[in-house]
Amino acid sequence: MRPPSTCVQPFTLSGYHGEPTRGTLTIQGFNRQQRMRRALRELGKWWGVALLSVLIPVAHFVLVPSFLLYGAWQFWQRLGTAELATEARGTCPDCGTEQTFELAPRWRTPQPVTCKQCHRGLRLTVPS
Ligand SMILES: [Zn+2]
Repeated sequence: MRPPSTCVQPFTLSGYHGEPTRGTLTIQGFNRQQRMRRALRELGKWWGVALLSVLIPVAHFVLVPSFLLYGAWQFWQRLGTAELATEARGTCPDCGTEQTFELAPRWRTPQPVTCKQCHRGLRLTVPS
């Protein structure tokens, strides 16, 4: 099911050689309810891990508070995420391979991406 809040944005991809190429970026927008649900799911996951690490002797002194804090931090991160880049499709300017790029979980522009074919570092820029 395609959420109605998805939009597609063009981007520019530049490498070391060759002309920068263009591609498309799928961005998903979240409303308040979706943000809260995503945040709670993440919180539940990490607090679940924290609960399990109670069973690990000695290490639990470090693990349990770490996972609890990490879960809380993830919760706030997700709660504040109104937009998320889910897919970037484009052509590598260096080797010309069309592909879907792996994106960092935290969206920022310019975003560094790596070509799956030639393994070169590329820069993904969204024109504002
Ligand atoms: Zn390449």
